[in-house]
Amino acid sequence: MKILGDNPEKKSYPVVPVRDGIVFPGAEQVLLFGRNKSIVAIDEAMKKDRKVVLLMQKNPDTNEPRPADLYQVGVLASIEKVLKGERGEVSALVRGEARIRVTDLVSTHPVFEATVEYIPETISIGENVEEIEALVRHITGELKKAVNLGKGIEFVFLMNIMSGVPTYEFSNHVAMILDLKTKDRQLLLEENNLVSRLKKEAQFITEEVKVLEIEHSISVKTQKKFDKGMKDAVLREKIKTIEQELGEESREDKEVNELRSKIKKAKMPEEAEEKALKELERLAHMSPYNPESSYVRTYLEVVADLPWSVHSKSEVNIPMAEKILNEDHYGLKKIKERILEYLAVMKLKESNGMKKKVDKHKDNLKRIAKQPTILCFVGPPGVGKTSLGRSIARSMGRKFVKMSLGGIRDEAEIRGHRRTYVGALPGRIIQGIRQAKVNNPVFMLDEIDKIGADYRGDPSAALLEALDPEQNFAFSDHYLETPFDLSDVMFITTANMLDTIPGPLRDRLEIITFSGYTMDEKFNIAKNYLVQKQLEAHGLGKYKIKVENNALKLIALDYTREAGVRELERQIATVFRKIARQVVEKGTKNTLVQSKNVTGYLGPKKYSSQVIEEKDAVGIVNGLAWTPVGGEILLIEVAIMPGKGNLTLTGHLGDVMKESGQAALSYIRSRFGIFGLGSDFYNSIDIHIHVPEGAVPKDGPSAGVAITTAMISALTKVPVNRRVAMTGEITLRGRVLEIGGLKEKVIAAHKAGIKTVLVPNENKKDLEDIPKFIKDDIQFIFVSHLDEVLKKALIFPDGKFNFKKLGIGISPKSQLSVAVN
Ligand code: ADP
Repeated sequence: MKILGDNPEKKSYPVVPVRDGIVFPGAEQVLLFGRNKSIVAIDEAMKKDRKVVLLMQKNPDTNEPRPADLYQVGVLASIEKVLKGERGEVSALVRGEARIRVTDLVSTHPVFEATVEYIPETISIGENVEEIEALVRHITGELKKAVNLGKGIEFVFLMNIMSGVPTYEFSNHVAMILDLKTKDRQLLLEENNLVSRLKKEAQFITEEVKVLEIEHSISVKTQKKFDKGMKDAVLREKIKTIEQELGEESREDKEVNELRSKIKKAKMPEEAEEKALKELERLAHMSPYNPESSYVRTYLEVVADLPWSVHSKSEVNIPMAEKILNEDHYGLKKIKERILEYLAVMKLKESNGMKKKVDKHKDNLKRIAKQPTILCFVGPPGVGKTSLGRSIARSMGRKFVKMSLGGIRDEAEIRGHRRTYVGALPGRIIQGIRQAKVNNPVFMLDEIDKIGADYRGDPSAALLEALDPEQNFAFSDHYLETPFDLSDVMFITTANMLDTIPGPLRDRLEIITFSGYTMDEKFNIAKNYLVQKQLEAHGLGKYKIKVENNALKLIALDYTREAGVRELERQIATVFRKIARQVVEKGTKNTLVQSKNVTGYLGPKKYSSQVIEEKDAVGIVNGLAWTPVGGEILLIEVAIMPGKGNLTLTGHLGDVMKESGQAALSYIRSRFGIFGLGSDFYNSIDIHIHVPEGAVPKDGPSAGVAITTAMISALTKVPVNRRVAMTGEITLRGRVLEIGGLKEKVIAAHKAGIKTVLVPNENKKDLEDIPKFIKDDIQFIFVSHLDEVLKKALIFPDGKFNFKKLGIGISPKSQLSVAVN
């Protein structure tokens, strides 16, 4: 045990409280004193032997510490030099002399004064030398690491530590430079055993190095991230300064100014302009690094780009319109007339509206709808709906835009997303207007029968608002947030079928039905329009290329099956592509496409005409179906076999067709007597209805009459006339109801060689659409009840409408007499 000193005289010393750092024995440091009590204490000491007692505060934040706020173990220190500052503060070079413990507080005023006892430094001699050596090395190594990781240490301390001072002094220096809490530093001060103190210091420095390492790796990572951003920011800032110095506008200012002039030029309504300028103001004050700035910029670009006040000069001139419609389209006589009537009404309304506006200025004027109603072109694909729309636009001198609505289920597709939504866009209506670049285009909304509704709102309701002439002068798009006037837009909608157009929307539409073309019409369209169009599209306009009439007919007949002429146009295009190659490769100047070399251009024929059965048969009926690609003969077969009353349906059947089968059976069961059947005839048999699978799915109730007739024929064994075809929906009481698509169905029947078509009475009105040459070939019989159908379609052996009792279900014995055909 080594005693470093004691205080035999029991002298008292002024006490100076220190907030956290303390000067350990053997070390020197400049301390700054600002508190009055400390300054007085230093003065006192200077007057005597320059010695003070340094005691650490338990809480560094206490400003006026009382004796209880100070630790009892501290350092007796001597003041080497004093320097007074301008505001009375004192800097003193202080040297630590010895650890002491306060034994008595002899005075508290004007300064604390205390008597102390020395605490001896203890060190075990001999056996601990190696351990001490190892600890010193470890601490030194860790300190070096800490310095490399950025720990700031005063050079004097570092020098002292590294220069081989006695170990107790080494440990005191280390205690001073460690980054410690007051409590831990006091712990080191109170530890008078050197080995224990070194161990504690080793632990503290290791922890400190760990923290420094973590800090370092974080800062390296973040530094990397920041570096690029900072570099860019600094460079941009520099460019800005340079531009300012040169008296040029900065890029951002330029952009804002450009947008401002665009907004002004757009001549939008006051409310919209005010909103746009407000947003512009926001953009001008936004940092270009703020992600929102790009959203605001896009918004302003969209708004400024809209044709708020750009108009096509448009005038309706009926004779001119008629000329253009005829120029672009073959046939479609009734449709063209309807359109011309419509345009005439529009012209009248427009001029009336103008007069009223002049008369009453614009006070409270109830808006006159400029568009009488919304047209809806309904029909199969390729029948010219779009191209007619385009012609209407041309005839009025307006632009044409088309927007497909097929498959949309979200209201926001029509009305836009709110701008809070990331990636928000205006709805399709506003997008279409932007695309048109004028506010009075002919706007075709395609496939309105294919919009649906789900949890994201009902797009058809939003569409109604856009189409309604009473409301659409202030159409609100969520993205724009300001109304847009759509009242000058001429909307035309298209659909393939009426059934799936939502009711309220359908009520607003003026339906114009396009039916499929006959073979003759297709030929004429191809000859007079499509061939020329495709020649030009393939750059063959100036060559002598002819397509023979028979070749065209062959292409239409054998290579297409459709109601319209789209496929036909595509096949013609294929032929011309091949010719174009020959022209380029071989320099061919003249080409004549004949029917005999069609296969050379288009390969083997794709379709063969449907033909009817060769013999009148029991249980087989020619139904007629409508499909999106035209009419089709629907061969319905019914077979009866012994069984337990099961009804089986096979073939490509939808639900509606299956229900028709059930309804047919119910009808027959309710009238079993008339058909010569027993009351429970169906208990002993199974009925199988089969519809051979065609190329396209078909569904609809219009096969009801045909299915029932086939079933009756199968049950009663009365054969069906193979040259008769029928269409019609049937009620449970046998009434025959109206169907759609008569023209397409009849065309298909004609092609297949049918001579008689049974048509619901209510469809009489559709007869005028049927081309004359078909009417010449086919007899139409209008029916209102199934009995009439049976009379015409079934071939009764004795020529009378009378079903023999075959005995199905009449007596148990006869059950097995049911034969299968
Ligand atoms: P839709 O819109 O009904 O599906 P399109 O308008 O796209 O049909 O017509 C397909 C092609 O057929 C177009 O090239 C169109 O010009 C042409 N076409 C259709 N009907 C006629 C017609 N009556 N006269 C001339 N060309 C026609």
